Amino acid sequence: MFKKLFSKVTSSSTSFSDIARNESSNEKHTDDGQPKKHANTRRRPKKTKPAAPAWDVSQFVVPEVKGKTRFHDLGLEAPLMHAIADLGFEYCSPIQAQSLPNTLNGHDMLGKAQTGTGKTAAFLTAIIDDLLKNPLEGERYAGEARALIIAPTRELVVQIAEDAKLLVKHTDLTVHTLVGGMDYTKQQQGVRNKFVDILVATPGRLLDFASNKDVHLDQVEILVLDEADRMLDMGFIPQVRRIVRLTPRCENRQTLFFSATFTDDVMRLAEQWTQNPCSVEIEPESVATDTVEQHVYLVAASEKYKLLTNLARQPDVESLIVFGNRRDECRRLHEQLVKHGFSAGLLSGEVAQNKRIKTLDGFKSGKIKILVATDVAGRGIHINNISHVVNFSLPEEPEDYVHRIGRTGRAGKKGVSISFACEDDAFLLPELEKLLGQKLECEQPPESLLP
Ligand code: AMP
Repeated sequence: MFKKLFSKVTSSSTSFSDIARNESSNEKHTDDGQPKKHANTRRRPKKTKPAAPAWDVSQFVVPEVKGKTRFHDLGLEAPLMHAIADLGFEYCSPIQAQSLPNTLNGHDMLGKAQTGTGKTAAFLTAIIDDLLKNPLEGERYAGEARALIIAPTRELVVQIAEDAKLLVKHTDLTVHTLVGGMDYTKQQQGVRNKFVDILVATPGRLLDFASNKDVHLDQVEILVLDEADRMLDMGFIPQVRRIVRLTPRCENRQTLFFSATFTDDVMRLAEQWTQNPCSVEIEPESVATDTVEQHVYLVAASEKYKLLTNLARQPDVESLIVFGNRRDECRRLHEQLVKHGFSAGLLSGEVAQNKRIKTLDGFKSGKIKILVATDVAGRGIHINNISHVVNFSLPEEPEDYVHRIGRTGRAGKKGVSISFACEDDAFLLPELEKLLGQKLECEQPPESLLP
């Protein structure tokens, strides 16, 4: 693609990374075309394994349906189609159908979309197809990322990387993650020993790697900023700004910018980091209401815990995420549930990263039935088959409600969300209804669940 080739030779950024890159690009080959030893820490890793045997798209039959876009209609590379077929995706979700025709052509994008809309697969498909269509020729150094995805939380990074690994499984593309709170050396070995095609990272750890020259961002062809509003809220923007400066200039890279909300601050960032982007907006309602049966139970604060445990014992509750508003509230809830014999896990910022990943694995495999989570820790986690979401406390930010209930009713399945409204937080309901554009009927909990 013109944009990509161009970016390799003509970036005129004066950033530190570009100076480093200009030096490095001069040093990559000697006059006779042989690779030259690099002065800094960049090394040439071993070649990765060859691609899997050919697969034919005729094995993946999806009938044409008016008004729906099939992945077949997008001219995607066969190994990517193979992975999409394995995942059982037949038709594009709205964000995929609207963004891919543009992003596959190299356009920048602003995506207003929540989790649950298929946005991860939307940007990963664009990245993977592009990397496959434009294989790198000649020398490469370890640590030079071709695609960079920045996300605010470790869980989200791990989740995006898991989705990416599923989509590259029939290619020789590599996926690496860099997240804080986990073993630096192990992550360092990863980026040193294998090429880095897709790098998924949280801002802080990524900056550490870039400062130590364990990764190099000056060859990035596609940059994805996921959940930009959350990064703003969490105070990550100065770090993200430094990272973006280490990548090629805006006109020499493709940038896909996602945010659930577009405030003035978010918009300013989007304007700085993208060029003539296409905009795709997926309304929250299309996430929340289609596949999730929403209930609001009126309950006294003192009875909420009992109601929760009665609910958790119902036979149709296969797996349950309980959201609280604060870490201490979640911690106490989790302790109580464990004390009362429930298989429960806790996902909050105060839990060590390794433990969080173990908890998520346990929840995915069904070993853990109830996951208690804060908004930050719980956001962006894609686990299918969650039957119920409980809002133990109503979220203070209406957008969080949509994020929370979007954990269930995923991938075409039905889900149930139950929000407890008590004397302390029922006043938050009107704002919520305004965002949803629908009335939330308050109910008395069914007799069978009453304490
Ligand atoms: P996300 O919005 O990225 O959190 O994705 C939500 C869920 O939808 C994930 O579990 C994806 O695996 C699934 N998904 C994404 N795209 C499709 C598709 N085209 N068809 C069916 N499921 C999908």
